[in-house]
Amino acid sequence: MERDLIADTIILYARTGKGSRLSSNVTFSLTFLGAAGTVTGSKHLLEAAGRRVLVDCGLFQGVKELRLRNWEPLPIDPASIDAVVLTHAHLDHCGYLPRLVAGGYRGRVFCTPATKELCGIVLPDSAHIQEEDAREANRHGFTKHQPALPLYTSVDAARALDRLQPVGYERPVPLWSDGGQTAAQGVSAPGLTPTVEFVNAGHLLGSAYARIRIGDRTLLFGGDLGRYGRPVLPDPSPVTEADVLLLESTYGDRLHQPDDNGERLATIVRQTAARGGKLVVPAFAIGRVEEVLYWLKRLEDDKRIPSLPVFVDSPMAVAALQFYAARLNELDADLTMTASRSDRGPALSGSPSGRDQVATRPAASPDQILSGSRSDGLRRVAAFATARLTMVASMQQSADLVASRQPSIVISSSGMATGGRVLRHLAATITNPKNTVLFVGYQAAGTRGRLLTDGAKEIKLLGRIYPVAARVERVDSMSAHADSGEIMRWLSAFTRPPRMTYLVHGDPVALDALAARIARELRWSVRIPAHLERVVIPDMANG
Ligand SMILES: [Zn+2]
Repeated sequence: MERDLIADTIILYARTGKGSRLSSNVTFSLTFLGAAGTVTGSKHLLEAAGRRVLVDCGLFQGVKELRLRNWEPLPIDPASIDAVVLTHAHLDHCGYLPRLVAGGYRGRVFCTPATKELCGIVLPDSAHIQEEDAREANRHGFTKHQPALPLYTSVDAARALDRLQPVGYERPVPLWSDGGQTAAQGVSAPGLTPTVEFVNAGHLLGSAYARIRIGDRTLLFGGDLGRYGRPVLPDPSPVTEADVLLLESTYGDRLHQPDDNGERLATIVRQTAARGGKLVVPAFAIGRVEEVLYWLKRLEDDKRIPSLPVFVDSPMAVAALQFYAARLNELDADLTMTASRSDRGPALSGSPSGRDQVATRPAASPDQILSGSRSDGLRRVAAFATARLTMVASMQQSADLVASRQPSIVISSSGMATGGRVLRHLAATITNPKNTVLFVGYQAAGTRGRLLTDGAKEIKLLGRIYPVAARVERVDSMSAHADSGEIMRWLSAFTRPPRMTYLVHGDPVALDALAARIARELRWSVRIPAHLERVVIPDMANG
């Protein structure tokens, strides 16, 4: 149900080089095609002067009712969109892009260089999962579609990647050339060609807010907001003004556990090691893995945990880790210092002595068969390398690790245990009280991660029900999303209230709580848009 709240045409001012003057009557609207009233599927359609910009192009994830939305046609023709902007490379912000391109989108997709790199990992991986799911459905006949088709294919993902246009942070670029401005709109071209500028959001490597300027108006699409004072990623950049703000609300009703300098993680590792158990960490392939490794390395260096074998069992995570290691200059200064202090630091700069140091470290893995893959990847990820780190590459190595009973730490995706290699690790460990399963990120409703952290006594994995005997722990302080206090801290940098703040990317309870808090403490105008709601942006006319 598309709701056109205000049908009237809104008058927009255009900058002409000599201040602002009235240029034209232009309808200016936002349509919330995803992440409205929920945390996934981010897609925000901006329409102005007869042109369309889609900010983020995410997949719906989680419960089936949401996932089915990925199959519904968009209310607009993808070919009618003039530009796409991505805030970051998490699937709930970029994972629909191959479908959009397959559906006829032919324009450019603006993103930061690191987002482009990470999309090069996550989109082909997502396509692969879609193809696998369709194959499984056809093999077992559990589909009413004959044959079941993937949401998109590897070819679609490759075509989507071809459209990515990298733009560095804080460099406004026009979304299309002025020549393309529709004369029929009577729009003053130089003033009304929107520009996009990426500002570091501190949420993931390459993550950004997208600041879109049209004329003298600014819309800030917050994407996901990072956190303050955390290792690995920088603090979210302050923003002082925007006419319209889209703000995520994932943890809008919550505060994260206070920073304890890794003590809870250290306790969990020590206790599991003392029981001779395995610690399985389902982790989002990108972002969380880096922070988990950072903490393990730091706790190990400080001798607060024993030096256990650590396995990263996710090909995508290994690839992403290398991008992180290659872009230390975009990460937290703390990490750069850790890397340069470390005896493994020189490996980062590619100096031969550093490489030798890594390569000649004693063999790390508990099982000889697993040791083959470690040195090659380690040379490139020294900033995150614990003493006994192994990158698990092949399915065979993964199977051997699943079978191994040796105490160790296994980091494997997916983070909400909805799929991926971690399912086999869970099936092998969850029935034994010696072991621990540790969740480190947001667990969406309907996922195994949510069931387990809510205290489920049994869990279905790979078609079988397993009793839950392992300890299930949760460390929220490693979340990549700002909590409500951090969101308010970020908003406090604004020197004037936005004319309207739209809260997106949150479950209803979190959205309501954050809306109430912003209205109470800041007295800003806040709205929680509904799925597919279209709003004509208010007050853009009255400067
Ligand atoms: Zn994200």
